[in-house]
Amino acid sequence: MSPALSNQTKRWQEMDAAHHLHPFTTHKELAAKGARVITHAEGVYLYDSEGKRMLDGMAGLWCVNVGYGRKELAEAGAKALTELPYYNNFFQTTNPYAAELSEKLSTLTPQGLDRFFFANSGSEANDSFVKMVRFFWNLQGRPEKKTIISRKQGYHGVTMAAASLSGIPSMHPQADLPLPGFAHIDYPYWYGQGGDSDPREFGLKIAKSLEDKILELGADKVAAFVAEPVQGAGGLIIPPETYWPEIQRICKKHDVLLHADEVICGFGRTGNWFGSHTFDIAPDSMAMAKGMTSGYQALSAVAVGPRMGEVLFNASEEWSHGFTYSGHPVACAVALANIEVMETEKLVEKCGGETGAYFQKKLATLQTHPLVGETRGVGLLGAIEIVKDKKTRERFDGDVGTMCRNHCFESGLVMRGIGSTMVLSPPLTISHAELDELFELAVKALDLTARELGVL
Ligand SMILES: *Cc1c(COP(=O)(O)O)cnc(C)c1O
Repeated sequence: MSPALSNQTKRWQEMDAAHHLHPFTTHKELAAKGARVITHAEGVYLYDSEGKRMLDGMAGLWCVNVGYGRKELAEAGAKALTELPYYNNFFQTTNPYAAELSEKLSTLTPQGLDRFFFANSGSEANDSFVKMVRFFWNLQGRPEKKTIISRKQGYHGVTMAAASLSGIPSMHPQADLPLPGFAHIDYPYWYGQGGDSDPREFGLKIAKSLEDKILELGADKVAAFVAEPVQGAGGLIIPPETYWPEIQRICKKHDVLLHADEVICGFGRTGNWFGSHTFDIAPDSMAMAKGMTSGYQALSAVAVGPRMGEVLFNASEEWSHGFTYSGHPVACAVALANIEVMETEKLVEKCGGETGAYFQKKLATLQTHPLVGETRGVGLLGAIEIVKDKKTRERFDGDVGTMCRNHCFESGLVMRGIGSTMVLSPPLTISHAELDELFELAVKALDLTARELGVL
C-alpha cells in the first residue's frame, strides 16, 4: 500500500482485505495491493476515496446506461421504499410496480415476448430459463428433449446452471462444471479465428457447428440454443451478418428453442431496445438484467414468447420456482423510472444515431495505432484488438489486456481488458466532449502500453 494514501482509505482497504471475498478476484494479489475504493459517481465519472476522478468507459459492468447520480431513479426508489418496501409475488399476489413493469416491458421487447418472470440477476434469469425450458418440454410430453447448447466464450452468469451455459474455460474446473445436459459449440470470432476467410462464409461455417451438434446429440434430445446477440464478457464478438439468419434457420428446422441472452445488449446498448432488434433475431425467450435498472437495483427478467408462454400460463400444476425478491417493488419502481429516463431523453435513438455514430467514428481512428490490429463495434459497444503484428494478427506473450487496463486506470479511464482485447461500453448518456476525452485517454493508455512493450 502506498504511504501517500489517507488513513481512511487505508482503514477501508484493511477491513476489506481481512473480511471481503470479492467476485472474480485473485485475493492474494488484492491483499498485497489494497483495493481501489470507489466512493461516489456522477454522470460518466467515478471518484475514489483519494479524490481521483475516472471516466467510466464500461458503465460499471456494462450496466449504468443512464449514467450515475440520476435523481429520477433515486426518487422512484425512495417512493417505493416508503410506500411498499417489500412484499412478495408468491401465492396469487402482485404489486403495482411489478404489474406496471411487466406491461411496460411487453411494449419494448420483440414481437410476442410479452410475459415476464422476475429475478435479481442475469445469472438467476438464465438459471430460471433452464428450469423453465425443462418444465416446458416435460409438459409437452418430451422429457428427452433437455440438452442445452451454448457457445464457447459465451457468458451467461455464475450460478451452477448459468456457469454451465457459460463457455469461458476458467469458469468450469473450480466447481466441476459444466453439469450434465450442457454442450458448447464454436463462436463466430472472425478476427481471432477466421484467418483469410471471407467473414460471410466464416459466419455460415460457425453457424453450421450448431447443426452438427444437434445432429450429433439427436434433435429429439436438444431443448434450446442459448446465445448473446453480441458476446460481451467473452471478448465483444460481433457475428458476421450471415450468422444469425443461419442460426435461426437451424433452430426452426430442428425444433430447438432459441434463448437470447440480452443481459448486455438489452436496454439500448446496440442502438435498439434489444440486440434481437439490431440483429433481426426472433427468439423464443430472452434474459435481461444490467441496463434494466441501469444497475441502480438488482433486477432481471426472463421474457417468454407465445410458444412457452401459452404452455406455462395454462399449466394446471404450480410452477415450483421463484425468488423471495421476484418482482421486488423497489427494483421494479426503479426499472420503470430508468425506462422513463431512456424514453424522455431518447437514449436508445441516440445510441442508434448520433452518439453511437460518433463513438464508432472515434473508435475506428484507433486502427492507425501501432498496437491495434482491429477495432469493431455496434451502438455503444467497442472492441480494440492489441496485436504484435497487424498482418499476421500475432499476439504478444503475456497479459497485455491487464497491462493496458492498468495504464487506463492511471490515466483516469476505465477500459476493460479481455485477453488482448480492450472493450468499451460507456453510459448511453455520454456527450461528444466526454467521448473526445475517453478516446484521448485511450490513446494515451495505448501509447504507454506500447512503450512498456518496447514498440514505441
Ligand atoms: C453479466 C451477464 C450475466 C450475468 O448477470 P449477473 O447479474 O452478474 O448474474 C448473464 N449474461 C450476460 C450476457 C452478462 O453479460
